[in-house]
Amino acid sequence: MARMMYRIQLARRISLGFFLVFSTLIAILHQKIPGFPAVDALCPFGGLETLFKFLSGGELLRRIEPSNILLLALIIVLGVLFGRIFCGWICAFGALQGIFGSLGRRIFKKPLTIPQRVDRILRLFKYPFLVAILIWTWRVGDLVIRPYDPWPAWAHLSAGFAEVWGEFKIGFIVLILTLISSIFYERTFCKYLCPLGAFNALLSRIPLMRIKREQSTCTSCTLCNRVCPMNIKVMETDRINSPECIACMECVTACPTKKNTLSLHFVRKQVPLWLIALLGVGIYAGSIGIARGTGLVSFTAPPLTHRAAKGDVRVEDIKGSSTYADICEAFGVDLPVLLAESGLSTFDIPPDTRIKDTGLITGLAFETDTVRNAIARILDLPYSGEH
Ligand code: SF4
Ligand code: SF4
Repeated sequence: MARMMYRIQLARRISLGFFLVFSTLIAILHQKIPGFPAVDALCPFGGLETLFKFLSGGELLRRIEPSNILLLALIIVLGVLFGRIFCGWICAFGALQGIFGSLGRRIFKKPLTIPQRVDRILRLFKYPFLVAILIWTWRVGDLVIRPYDPWPAWAHLSAGFAEVWGEFKIGFIVLILTLISSIFYERTFCKYLCPLGAFNALLSRIPLMRIKREQSTCTSCTLCNRVCPMNIKVMETDRINSPECIACMECVTACPTKKNTLSLHFVRKQVPLWLIALLGVGIYAGSIGIARGTGLVSFTAPPLTHRAAKGDVRVEDIKGSSTYADICEAFGVDLPVLLAESGLSTFDIPPDTRIKDTGLITGLAFETDTVRNAIARILDLPYSGEH
């Protein structure tokens, strides 16, 4: 029994570690090699951000791919079935906070506590934050929260500090603050700020899966309270209904009674922890693998030249990873004309240079939007600029 419990938590750490390493690796490869998905295309929250635009006309926000819709659908399925299992077993940013949290547990004997009333009020903040982001995004029609988001800041670290600081100044500061604060107080971002966590918390109100506590065998040792990364008072309830529970199962595996004092129930039936973990992680990873392997769902935008061949290329489709040669071919513009209109006529820029590398060659703080605006002016195309 004890060995099984140990294995469950080991499996959880392996799962979180896998998703953290996998998403970071993809983000690094995206910087270096064309064809790898961008960090934005691998975030379920992107699906929520684009939902209004998608439902009202089938179009997606810039940087969002059909993969985001798939991930959102998976999050909804997992949230309804297994509560916040995504947060506890899959989320790469949760994993990152968990690493710093375990560091803190090793350094400090007694974890930091926040007065309950203050903590409760602060935890409510993520709900209006979620609503505000969605309204702001839908009104502006762009991923407005991106520069303030710590995850893209983390994912762009391999592009160099200058790019991170230039594009994600606030996101980078939030990232550093989150990681430092996680040493003293676990999962601070999840508790107080994460909009995806807030969305998951709302889904987890549908009570299909719950942890129950059997009073008669509980010895009131408080261990479950102490191991809970979300500071839920497990010992003070018979059934965990808190939207804060991330289904990490730390409380269940830590309970020393070995009498199923804490147990997992799915639609009133007791179920083994490993089964729920396997289903939760398996459904998520398996669906992504099938979608990617079969090509049923696209994780990357088609190259500009493919779009142009189909006759649906737009100025908005130009990305930092687009090369000058591809842009010229797709829009039928000569390179010297494009460079002149972009203020680059005095530089020797090879045609296969990606726009995002222009700054490295010229030493200028160069924005992708400069090229978009240049194309729009040359061809007299409608483009309202990056928001
Ligand atoms: S209540 Fe248990 S399962 Fe829920 S977050 Fe706390 S330790 Fe994890
Ligand atoms: S860890 Fe188990 S025995 Fe200890 S307080 Fe929690 S439920 Fe009771």
